Amino acid sequence: MARPLAIGDTILLEDNKRRRHMLTLSAEGEFHTHTGVLPHSLLIGKPEGTVARTTRGSKLTAFRPTLSEYILKMPRGAQVIYPKDLGPILMLADIFPGARVLESGVGSGALTMTLLRAVGASGSVLGYEIREDFAATARKNVEGFLGTDIPLEIEVRDIYEGIPAEGIDRIVLDLPEPWRVVEHAEQCLSPGGILLSYLPTIGQVGLLRERLEDSAFGMLESLEVLHRTWHVEGQSIRPDHRMVAHTGFLTHARLLAPIE
Ligand code: SAH
Repeated sequence: MARPLAIGDTILLEDNKRRRHMLTLSAEGEFHTHTGVLPHSLLIGKPEGTVARTTRGSKLTAFRPTLSEYILKMPRGAQVIYPKDLGPILMLADIFPGARVLESGVGSGALTMTLLRAVGASGSVLGYEIREDFAATARKNVEGFLGTDIPLEIEVRDIYEGIPAEGIDRIVLDLPEPWRVVEHAEQCLSPGGILLSYLPTIGQVGLLRERLEDSAFGMLESLEVLHRTWHVEGQSIRPDHRMVAHTGFLTHARLLAPIE
């Protein structure tokens, strides 16, 4: 944690308007803005939170990005799941250190990174992604934040055709037709295992619930997460005027034992 900023680190520079820029530090590198130039060498060896000045005197604060900051800045192929939903997904799907998690589709890898952090070195994440180019972008994104020594396997395959794996503790889906995964999930999940699905529209939630009602899963719940930020300035303390009103719905269910 206390490691000083070093060559090769991905960092965020925040300016006085709170705009953030992500870059990788290099010995000869320079950050150019309309308010001057900042040579990377002014940051190398300094602690996180260092405030440096550009050639024209404007201030930039340097930090290593948090996981949510990285997700919001990284290159995207597919639309990512936002931090507002990523945190609750970890709780609702009960992702624990050591868990073996199956994820599909992998998309840009935002959820993948979040799952990897929660399962830790003793767990594993198996990702199924139908598009080879997305699988490659996701791996690049994940490794850019977590490094290459991670318990992640990504397979290019269509999850609707089956899940040739077993002993899965948790399944997390971000796919258009998750109801087509239910029968495969019944086969590969361990008893008591959890299936969680993120879906943008309520019609999809209806179809998934209908399929789950008629399955080996029980304890069904669907919800949405509302996140409202507040404006705090002197006596003016109130909700912000704008908010992200909708991202997606979360549905989760638990695999029950067969009735004897
Ligand atoms: N959760 C991801 C984004 C996933 S976007 C993130 O946070 O970054 C949905 C992904 O599902 C897309 O990449 C798409 O290619 C993939 N996909 C769609 N249908 C699929 C299927 N049948 N099997 C595997 N992947 C699929």
